[in-house]
Order: sequence, then C-alpha cells, then structure tokens
Amino acid sequence: MTGDRPSVLCFSGHDPSGGAGIQADIETLISFSCHAASVITALTEQDSRNVKKIIPQRPEDIISQARSVLADFPVKAFKIGLIGHHETAEAICSILQDYPQIPVILDPVLAAGGGTELATEQLLSTLKTRLLPLTHVLTPNSIEARRLTDSEDLTDAAMKLMKMGCKAVLITGTHEDTEAVSNQLYQDGKMIKTLACTRLPYSYHGSGCTFAAAIAGLIAQGLKLPDAVSRAQDYTWNALQNAYRPGQGQHNPARLFWTTTSL
Ligand code: PLP
Repeated sequence: MTGDRPSVLCFSGHDPSGGAGIQADIETLISFSCHAASVITALTEQDSRNVKKIIPQRPEDIISQARSVLADFPVKAFKIGLIGHHETAEAICSILQDYPQIPVILDPVLAAGGGTELATEQLLSTLKTRLLPLTHVLTPNSIEARRLTDSEDLTDAAMKLMKMGCKAVLITGTHEDTEAVSNQLYQDGKMIKTLACTRLPYSYHGSGCTFAAAIAGLIAQGLKLPDAVSRAQDYTWNALQNAYRPGQGQHNPARLFWTTTSL
C-alpha cells in the first residue's frame, strides 16, 4: 500500500460529537492510506448518547460538490453513510448513475445507536427502489436487514436485498443474542463467508461507519471483496478494542489506534 493514495468519495453526515459519520470515515480511510473526499449529506445535532436532530443539506449543493470533485480527480470508490432525507438519496443516485464503474459501498443508516429514527418511509422506499440497484456492497446490521426486507431470517433478508439490486450484502451480527459476533457476507446470490469475532463489552458510536469505510478503502486499494471484508473486520475490532469514552454515552472506536505514541 505505497505510492498513490486512492480516493474514496464519501457521502456522509457530520456528527459534532466526533464519533460517527464523516469523521469516522476520514479517520478510517487515512488508516488504509486512502484520500477521503467528503460531501456532507446532513449536519446533525447529537451527543455521545443519541441523535437529536438531522439538518439535511440542499440536494443541488450535494450534487454540485460531488461533481466538482469527480471532474477533478479519479475516485476509486463511493462510500455512503447517513442520508437522512429522500431528496438527498435522489441527489446521490443522480451522481452514481453517471459513474457505474465506481464501486458503491452503502451503510444503510436507519436509526441511531441511541434509538432515534433516521429514515422516513419515503427514504426507505427511495433507498430500496433507486439506491440499492446502484449499490455494490450493502452493509446493514441485522436490524436494518430485517427492516429493509420484512424477513426475520437473515439469509432470506440477504437474498431479498440482492434481488432488489445490490451485488453483495454484509450483515453484521452485533445486535444478535449470540456469544460471539458473527458477520455474514453474501455475493451474487449466495453466502460467501461467515466471519466471527469476540464480542466486546460496550456500545460503540460509529462502528458501522468504521466497518463500511474500511471496506471502501480496501476496495479502493484493489482488494477483492472477501479479503477486504476480513481485513476491515480485523481493523474495526482493533479500533473497538482500543475504544475510549469521551462523554457520558457510547464509546468511540479508536480508529487511529495505530498512531498511538507515548506522551
Ligand atoms: N450520526 C451520523 C452522522 C451517522 O452517520 C451515524 C451512523 O452512521 C450515526 C449518527 C449513528 O451512529 P451509531 O449508530 O453508531 O450510534
């Protein structure tokens, strides 16, 4: 991973508490020697416990910001996080459809870890009908996978999501009642692999953003999806194991754990 830094264009929300969203993406992409370009989909008001408000950005601004970047330098992957409004989803689609050769890694952020709803029915519908057909890798947690498909069984959910148009689905298992965490990768209509890891003790802010951004960075670096997912999981687990608690709520993954120096 030397030489040029591949660019990943992130469509993400801003979290002023510094745990999730674009800050998570940038820290993660730096960890994989990528350049992060960032188009903010929404500002938010939140603390380390929960999201209080979403402030969507204007669709025309999202489009023109992305087009300026894309006209200037090659982008090796798109990473999409919090969308927050159906018109934002439409704006993102209008960009993606002009760049079908660039892989799209989409983390469907439907609710905050603290419980706040982050997606309306209209956004869910746009996501399913317009955005999923443009997506290469979808990274729902098990709750999001069930909500997007109305399937209790996670394999059924993955199959339905691929029928909706995305090429691969990684369902993360943190919210399942299992001793270890088990994440399942599906691609081209079948299960590709199961990746287990030891369950860690806390609730973490922006762990899904971290995992999806790591996959995007590794794909931008040229790894094939199964290898990218394995390495992204190892990285995310290390970031969580080194987590710290800046406030009174969730822990933050230490995504730059590898830079730690003695002060
Ligand atoms: N805020 C923003 C901007 C996000 O992108 C996300 C998740 O992607 C969240 C909040 C919620 O993070 P969590 O579910 O880890 O609490």
